[in-house]
Amino acid sequence: MLIETHAHIDDKQFDSDRDEVIARAFDSGVEKIINIGAGLGSSQRSVALAEKYENIFCSIGLHPHYFMEYGEKSFDKFPEFKALAVSKKIVAIGEIGLDYFIPDGSVITEEQKELQRKGFREQLEFAKELKLPVILHCRGSRPVAPSEYREADDAYEDVFAIVSEFPGLNFVWHSFGGRLAFVEKVLGKENMLISFAGNITYNKPGAEIFAVIKRIPLEKIMLETDCPYLAPVPMRGKRNEPLYVKYVAQKIAEVKNVDFEDLAKVTTSTAERFFGL
Ligand SMILES: [Zn+2]
Repeated sequence: MLIETHAHIDDKQFDSDRDEVIARAFDSGVEKIINIGAGLGSSQRSVALAEKYENIFCSIGLHPHYFMEYGEKSFDKFPEFKALAVSKKIVAIGEIGLDYFIPDGSVITEEQKELQRKGFREQLEFAKELKLPVILHCRGSRPVAPSEYREADDAYEDVFAIVSEFPGLNFVWHSFGGRLAFVEKVLGKENMLISFAGNITYNKPGAEIFAVIKRIPLEKIMLETDCPYLAPVPMRGKRNEPLYVKYVAQKIAEVKNVDFEDLAKVTTSTAERFFGL
């Protein structure tokens, strides 16, 4: 049985068949789902979903995009955001972090970076207050090579520096795309885990991501889909859903040369411990 640790089934892409998508996952080897907040509205919807289904849990968080969209006004929403934290089904703060990639090709300004960092820090303080683990979103400022999974290291370095100011918290680097050298820094911290999404299946043999996966001890890995985005091969290009976490698991089992069942057992117990499920 697998735990899908990062889903966005509150997304409108699931409006017509959300219950079926959830039932499909639970009927076919997914034990629990964590639905992730990535803004005020999606955090509210995540809580509502988790309150509705026994085996759905959730996080609440304001994604770096939120700060890009609302600027300084984002901070006016904090009281409303913090008021959400009464549900017992909230198991983490996230996804929060830094995203320096601007889709239109423009370059992020120092001012925008500073705004993101301020929003990130404020939510880390909140996680500390609530004693909850943190789901990190991190994307560098430009793709190094368009066919590769990775971007520049700038956001990774900044996230790492900021979370190091919070040694009492536990973190997971979600949909990890960092490089091998960066992984060494993460592995040096006892309070950090790494999770992989469907995009690991997009890479050709020999890609750095596979060396990254091999390097990380199985006990430090969690599984996710990040649905509806990043559908793994053989579903690439389609809408992603929690059931497809099995393809991510299969790929990691293959890369690490471990038995699927063993991988399921270890990653599930890691997720249970990390999120206190
Ligand atoms: Zn996400």
